[in-house]
Amino acid sequence: MPKSKRIVIKIGSSLLANSELLTPRWAFIQQLLSDVKDLRDDGYEVLICSSGAVALGLSTIGETPETAGLRDKQAAAACGMPILLNAYKQVAHEFGFDIAQVLVTLRDLEDRRRFLNTKNTVHRLLQAGITPIVNENDSITTEEIRVGDNDRLAAKVAQMVQAETLVILTCVDGLYTRDPSEPGAELVETVNDVTEFLEVTKGVSSLGSGGMLTKMQAANMAQNAGCTTIIGNGEAERPVMSLLDGTRKHTRCIANAKPASDWTAWLTDRLQMAGSLVVSEACADALCRKERGVLREDIQSIQGTFVRGDVLHIYDDNGNERARGLANFTAEETLILARNKDIPTKQLLGFQTNATIISRDNIVVLDGRHIHWDTPPDSELEQIETR
Ligand code: GLU
Repeated sequence: MPKSKRIVIKIGSSLLANSELLTPRWAFIQQLLSDVKDLRDDGYEVLICSSGAVALGLSTIGETPETAGLRDKQAAAACGMPILLNAYKQVAHEFGFDIAQVLVTLRDLEDRRRFLNTKNTVHRLLQAGITPIVNENDSITTEEIRVGDNDRLAAKVAQMVQAETLVILTCVDGLYTRDPSEPGAELVETVNDVTEFLEVTKGVSSLGSGGMLTKMQAANMAQNAGCTTIIGNGEAERPVMSLLDGTRKHTRCIANAKPASDWTAWLTDRLQMAGSLVVSEACADALCRKERGVLREDIQSIQGTFVRGDVLHIYDDNGNERARGLANFTAEETLILARNKDIPTKQLLGFQTNATIISRDNIVVLDGRHIHWDTPPDSELEQIETR
């Protein structure tokens, strides 16, 4: 299928908010939207994933990035969001186009039905020629239920609209082989396999939430869905165009030539772990050969408080993550089924079912290009042995 002419631009807080005064950086917004206008004139559909709500709202509630706690940030986001959108709206109007606000939460991206609902809204906006400005709804999300960084959020949006390019504008020139302030650090111009660079990606900016690690995770998600990610400094004239036409240095993470389908990419690339299962190595091998789904007798242990339709991470008993798949039962039901393998399901759950915990068709096997997640530490998710 030919790729759409769609581009997602992610902008970090430090580009949008003046670090001293915590007010909008109008000159940057002018530069950015001038590029968006040119892209639109060139036939691109543009989506912006914008940070900055928290930073721009902090002074209204009398806080600073250093002093603000979670509740302060939630309140700051409520104050800053209209300031941010007002700035975008005013400047976009000068350039003759409209913007719209799309606020999402983790569940809007992780839950399939809500994901499709969000996708429909975004497509309707694009169809009307409006540029969506997407951000996380920080005012109503707490630490456990938030995406937390707009890098991965932007990648999810790029997957959602099957964008051809994701541009991440930040305050450094791209990915370096080590901390860019250290001598000998070199810019990595091209990345084919993002997973090779996860170790060198540390360092978080004081205004935003992401660092280079979340940018690499985002680039991996985009790659998997056939989208190229460009990471570059936003502090420049024509911040987007000069990266797209290659006149300014940046890091380019090349799209996978054989991208995953929309469904597979959604299922595989997760923002948070809802739950996980451990099965024997032989069982994991069979799952990976697509011979069968996960049956109740396969399960050695269960972690998490997942519900039906959540994506489970499947580990073998050596601790290697092998696949991900959609749960047919809640964690409680799964536990009851797995602990009572010989008792008919009707007796256990009150209804007849073949007790396939994850159906074969709803399993995606992980390969080398996927970021494999570590097994959840016991302190985070309760591990329940089933035998
Ligand atoms: N959603 C946050 C905000 O608007 C920013 C998250 C991030 O920095 O990536 O301020």
